Amino acid sequence: MTDTVVEHWIAGAAWRGASDRTTPVYNPALGTVARQVRLASPADVDHAVAAASTAFESWGGASVAKRTAVMFAFRELLNARKDELAAIITAEHGKVLSDALGEIARGLEVVELACGVGALTKGEYTENASTGVDVYTVRQPLGVVGIISPFNFPAMVPLWFFAVAIAAGNTVVLKPSEKDPSAANWMAELFREAGLPDGVFNVVHGDKESVDALLQHPDIRSISFVGSTPIAQYVYENGTRAGKRVQAFGGAKNHMLVLPDADLDLAADACVNAGFGSAGERCMAISVVLAVDAVADELVTKVTERMATLRTGDGTRGCDMGPLITAQHRDKVAGYIERAPGDGATVVVDGRDVAADGAAEGFWLGPTLIDRVPVTSPVYADEIFGPVLSIVRVDGYEHGVDIINSSPYGNGTAIFTNDGGAARRFQNEVTVGMVGINVPIPVPVAYHSFGGFKASHFGDVKAYGAHGFAFFTQEKAVTSRWLDPSHGGLNLGFPQHD
Ligand code: NAD
Repeated sequence: MTDTVVEHWIAGAAWRGASDRTTPVYNPALGTVARQVRLASPADVDHAVAAASTAFESWGGASVAKRTAVMFAFRELLNARKDELAAIITAEHGKVLSDALGEIARGLEVVELACGVGALTKGEYTENASTGVDVYTVRQPLGVVGIISPFNFPAMVPLWFFAVAIAAGNTVVLKPSEKDPSAANWMAELFREAGLPDGVFNVVHGDKESVDALLQHPDIRSISFVGSTPIAQYVYENGTRAGKRVQAFGGAKNHMLVLPDADLDLAADACVNAGFGSAGERCMAISVVLAVDAVADELVTKVTERMATLRTGDGTRGCDMGPLITAQHRDKVAGYIERAPGDGATVVVDGRDVAADGAAEGFWLGPTLIDRVPVTSPVYADEIFGPVLSIVRVDGYEHGVDIINSSPYGNGTAIFTNDGGAARRFQNEVTVGMVGINVPIPVPVAYHSFGGFKASHFGDVKAYGAHGFAFFTQEKAVTSRWLDPSHGGLNLGFPQHD
């Protein structure tokens, strides 16, 4: 089993490539190496881009009807076989099966949106903009587009981009995370079954070397990146310098402000669900609860009670929360718990003591609650990306909003309150891209668009929705006149309308 190598998927088939480099892929619940994944060389990236360029010659001109039919067939197949994909995600990422199915459902939403490509890419027409002159716009695909995705959503995040890109007539080279690479190949194979021509969707596995090759490749028109903030910034700067259209989504530190008039039972449920779902390895996880002093003790008690009911363990066994992605990451997250008391915080529930329902070698860390975290502590400031929920006590609404707006990140945030006026003010005042009002994880539906502010998003175009179709198309404006003799004569002046 450990000798198996996940290969690239190029031009409709697995492809061994020129590189001999590989890296291990773990099963985090077992703590063992499950297989290897190939790491592409620049020559392998060239090969994938060449296949995508050839495929673009026909797919770029395929009718809307043809593209819609393939998207629809892919949607049907993915929906029918989602359990297979969920099992692959759980085996390589570790998230529990129900959560893997949840991510697929949110990815399917984007495929369903993409089935409406005809309505979403149609142009506009002005008859008689000038006498006898019509002006209209058409949206055309870019060509070959690159997508680089993170480990934490091995299906949903690639789907955010490739479903829209392919429906819009582009061809794709996807470089998924090397930590959980198999979901990408499975989706590529399924798309082929749905009738997608070979070469339209290619998967190249790799690390920094393949990312750099994509960023520099002259035939790649755009880059869609999702990952940590330093790499997002690197990709944005290098991709735009190489002349590409780039959208790069980075890390996060999401705050939930709980006002004294909130329903504290609902707020406590939300803290636990949004803090510990997927072991906190979500860019939209709540990692900081800003509790107004008057209700902070009661909220901490309610959250602690709920945490005692959570089962951490193997994602195939009906547990609530799975392992972390690697032993190294688990140890890094545990390091924050270790340092918290020295920073003046109180560890209320320590996940290092967890008795997990799974193999002893699994990368376990249980749900952790740290109270009275000072905003000067790295426990507050860093993106921990694990099952660690910090409570920061605030004296009221303004204090809470000040903290949120001082964060370098601006991905998601939430307010829990029964005061409509406070909620409306919050929505207006926070410098965060996605806001929840009594909703802890406000990931927008597919027909809106996803994206944060500040260090959570580089570039100005968001993912999916209308933004997604704008990103993956270029608009052409056509000014047209069907000549008749009255249009003759010389006039060197700038064209004016009459
Ligand atoms: P990561 O930045 O380590 O990796 C992301 C991608 O970049 C992977 O494909 C990886 O192979 C590649 N990569 C890694 N190191 C690189 C380097 N030095 N140069 C070039 N490419 C490199 O992120 P991750 O650990 O896979 O994912 C977790 C991060 O992603 C978190 O910070 C999380 O907040 C973020 N994330 C953000 C969003 C969002 O929409 N804003 C969504 C999901 C995840």
